[in-house]
Amino acid sequence: MTKLNIRNCARCKRIFVPVGNEKICSDCRAEDLELEERVKNYVRDHPGITVNQLIEGSGAPRNLVWRMIQQGQFENSGLKDAKYPCANCGKIITRGTYCSECMSKLKQNAQKFANAMNAKRRKAESTSNKTFSDSMYDALDSSRNR
Ligand SMILES: [Zn+2]
Ligand SMILES: [Zn+2]
Repeated sequence: MTKLNIRNCARCKRIFVPVGNEKICSDCRAEDLELEERVKNYVRDHPGITVNQLIEGSGAPRNLVWRMIQQGQFENSGLKDAKYPCANCGKIITRGTYCSECMSKLKQNAQKFANAMNAKRRKAESTSNKTFSDSMYDALDSSRNR
């Protein structure tokens, strides 16, 4: 039996059937695509503008413009200064989601998490299997909620 997968659109809150990991419904996605098209046209019509000028001039949400930069949609487009903030600390970066400092912090946290998991497992293995899976789910939950 296939589980019917429905979800609230992260933007308009309507219920929709997502394909894969989609977080917004097809209407909102179409809206996004339209905006992206507008943003691209704006850059084409205004070669050499900066990111801020683009955001102000096109009226598109900053996050959308930043995501487009991150996806490399402005390569060779004449957009100057194609930069956007780190998703964690807001430092201006030109590629990836996080700046190098946040990346290394995240890696450290992942390492700490892995170490904690291993410690828990070693501890759990010395007691029982049930404790092992329980503590694993606890660790997974607490990492997810952070
Ligand atoms: Zn929607
Ligand atoms: Zn950062």
